[in-house]
Amino acid sequence: MNIPVELTKQPKTLPPAKEFGFGRFFSDHMAIVEYSKDGAGPSRSWKNPKVTPYAPIPLDPGAAVLHYGQELFEGLKAYRGDDGKVRLFRPEMNWKRMQAGAARICMQAPPLELFIEMLKSFCRVEDRWIPKEPKCAFYLRPTLIATEAFLGVRPSNDYLFYVIGSPVGSYYGEGSDTVKIKVETEFVRAAPGGIGAAKTGGNYAASLRAALEAKQEGFAQVLWLDTTKKHIEEVGTMNVFFKMNGKIVTPSLDGTILPGVTRDSVLRLLEEMGTPAEERPISLEEILTASHNGKLEEVFGTGTAASISPVDSLGINGERVRVGEGKTGPVASELLKRLTDIQYGRSEDTFGWTLAIG
Ligand SMILES: *Cc1c(COP(=O)(O)O)cnc(C)c1O
Repeated sequence: MNIPVELTKQPKTLPPAKEFGFGRFFSDHMAIVEYSKDGAGPSRSWKNPKVTPYAPIPLDPGAAVLHYGQELFEGLKAYRGDDGKVRLFRPEMNWKRMQAGAARICMQAPPLELFIEMLKSFCRVEDRWIPKEPKCAFYLRPTLIATEAFLGVRPSNDYLFYVIGSPVGSYYGEGSDTVKIKVETEFVRAAPGGIGAAKTGGNYAASLRAALEAKQEGFAQVLWLDTTKKHIEEVGTMNVFFKMNGKIVTPSLDGTILPGVTRDSVLRLLEEMGTPAEERPISLEEILTASHNGKLEEVFGTGTAASISPVDSLGINGERVRVGEGKTGPVASELLKRLTDIQYGRSEDTFGWTLAIG
């Protein structure tokens, strides 16, 4: 597959790495492809993939995405290794998740080959945007939107898929090694039978209020509970792991939790380390009891943006729940090292997770 490229005539100035933050700057180009009619008949296909200068997208004000939220997004990073090579981390997992999300909210998603080719072509064009600085990466945001202008409630017939990119530093900024998390006891993120497992904007709209209130109270994110308020689900934009009573546990995927690529990778790394995690329902009660008995050793979030994010304490209804010694624990450090060593090409990729971009 050969994706045509139209280069920008106005390349931007690269921001210095210390100003990257997360998602503040966009690169010079975008990759884009449309799913639309083939001609006079009703048949449709993906056509005209291209890499073009980064620019606003013309969208009919009646487009379905703007009214009924038919939208999916993905998030993955291109890492520049110490050897100068650029690698994507498990991009086929992002494709798989987009397919699953598309099936749930009745969208058409691009086939695997197209998805991967667009990422690769885009990264090749944006080479100068892929940072060389340690801990930095080029965050890729594949996005799928419903574009048909029609106000009846039914799945759109037309779609647009595009990839944009942003050079990023560490998600929570410099110096903040561990984060404080608020156990959210009022709002819920997702319900059984709903769309919690789909990476769709609506889930984030539903989460903003709780996240904002948590931030005002001095927390980095919220820990979501299930609709019964008894079980742990996930943390804001991350999946969550606990080490308590000597065992590592994470909530099982029950349809309300986002199936993270980092979560899956961490499960496999833990197996490799000889300390496999249990995937099972985890009650809040259990966490509180473990903390009370001094047996809540570690809590950490996992996600592409922040990688492994150690939690130093949980806040619940104004009370503080201590986690271990309030600093990064040995399991979180070991996982962070193993994961980033693979991503940055520092260790052998025995799992076959990375895709080098030639
Ligand atoms: C994207 C996301 C995650 C993490 O998934 P990764 O594939 O590991 O980046 C976790 N929870 C939510 C709600 C997410 O949107």
